[in-house]
Amino acid sequence: MINLDKIIDLFMFREGTEEDDYSTKPVVTTGSIVWGVLFRFAIIMLVSLSLMHYIDWKFYWWTVFIAIWFFVAYPANRQYEQFYTRMDKFEEETLCGSCKYFSPTGQLCTMYDEHVSKTHIPCDGESWEPKQFS
Ligand code: SF4
Repeated sequence: MINLDKIIDLFMFREGTEEDDYSTKPVVTTGSIVWGVLFRFAIIMLVSLSLMHYIDWKFYWWTVFIAIWFFVAYPANRQYEQFYTRMDKFEEETLCGSCKYFSPTGQLCTMYDEHVSKTHIPCDGESWEPKQFS
């Protein structure tokens, strides 16, 4: 069944609240940003194609690029920067953030394949290993 909230999240590039950032079901991950980009890009393409018979694209082709910039690229980039700022904070404040099994792109523990949060540490700290710094 289609989850309407998820579709709206993808469409809105929902930035998430403090709670969203650190819950075990993060609203924003790099995957959600990529889906948002694809979803919005598809909408622009569908709208452009549906207007093909009414607009002479020879003169207005540039409007598609402007739409892609303002509706897809800029909001996605902004969301991406904010997501990484939040993940930096998460890495500083949590045990999982300093573990080598932590993947910030999905706020995920790669060993247990679960989202982690400030209050949810799947291994209870027993599998923690320090990150390798080069
Ligand atoms: S192994 Fe444990 S400490 Fe490390 S990321 Fe996974 S749950 Fe967190």
